[in-house]
Amino acid sequence: MSQIVFFNGEFMPRENVQISFEDRGFQFGDGVYEVIKCENGQALALNRHLRRLKRSLDALEIQIPSELDFAHLTRRLIKANSLHDGLVYMQVTRGVAPRAHTFPENVKPTVIAYPMPWNNPTSVQFKQGATAIIVPDERWLRCDIKSLNLIANAVAKEKARRAGATEALLYREGLGVVEGSSSNLFAVIDGTLVTAPASPLILSGITREILLELASELSIPLRTEVVSRHELLHDAQEAFITSRGIAVLPLVAIDGKIVGDGTPGPITQQLANAYKSLIDEAENLEAI
Ligand code: PMP
Repeated sequence: MSQIVFFNGEFMPRENVQISFEDRGFQFGDGVYEVIKCENGQALALNRHLRRLKRSLDALEIQIPSELDFAHLTRRLIKANSLHDGLVYMQVTRGVAPRAHTFPENVKPTVIAYPMPWNNPTSVQFKQGATAIIVPDERWLRCDIKSLNLIANAVAKEKARRAGATEALLYREGLGVVEGSSSNLFAVIDGTLVTAPASPLILSGITREILLELASELSIPLRTEVVSRHELLHDAQEAFITSRGIAVLPLVAIDGKIVGDGTPGPITQQLANAYKSLIDEAENLEAI
C-alpha cells in the first residue's frame, strides 16, 4: 500500500505530492522541521515538539493558517499509515515565490508530513556504545531554530562516517564542544552531569529536556555549561548523546581516546533506564 503523506492541507499517496522548484525551502532552506518519535502508535512528547515547531516558525516569521492543527494531522497521519513504531517527519517552508531573498508577501507556507521507518538502537548497540570525533562547528549563530539549513551538520556527520565514527561533536572556538551534528552531548565529570545550556548555539533537544528533568528527579548533580575539549577528552568519566531516534547512546571513545573504562557508565545507564521507564509507564505518550 502506498504511503500516505500530509501535503498542504490534504492527505494523499506520496506519489501525488508535487513541490515547485521555486519553493523557498528548495532554494533558500527557508523553512523549519521536526522529527517526532512514534511508539505504540502514539507521537512521543508531541506537545513539546509542537511548542518547539511554533518557536522555530515564529523566529523566522513564517505564518501558519489558523485552521492548521499539527496535533490532529500527526495523529491522522499515524493512523492512515498504521504506524506503530517509527518517526514522523514534518516540514514547513515559507512557500513558493519567484526567487528573491526578501520575504514574499501573501505567500502560503508549504507543509508536508510523512512517516519514516526507524530502527531503535538495540541493547547490544547500547552496551557496545558509539564513537565520536570532534570537528569545528561551522553552523550559523541561530542553532536554536530547527531550520532546514543542515549543510554544516551534514558535512560534519559525513566526516564522522569517513572516520568510522557514529557522531561528529561540534567544537566552537573559544567556547567548547556544544553538541553533536544531530544530537545533544552530555558528559559526566567528577560525578556531575554536564551539558551545554539552552542558547542560540545549540538545538535544545526534546530528549535533552526530558533527561534534564529526570536527572533532577534522580538528584543527579547537574551543571549546564559547555564542556571544554580538554575536559571531554581528559576528565570525562562518561559521555553520551541524545536524540529522539537514538534516545540515550553512550560514547565509549572520542577522537580515538577511550571514555572512562570504555563501557557505558552508571549515570548513563541510570538515565537511559529512567527514560525507558518514563515511556513504558506513561499513560499519555503525547504529553510526556
Ligand atoms: N541537536 C541537533 C543539532 C539535532 O539535529 C538534534 C536532532 N533533532 C538534536 C540536537 C536532538 O534533538 P531531539 O532530542 O529533539 O531529537
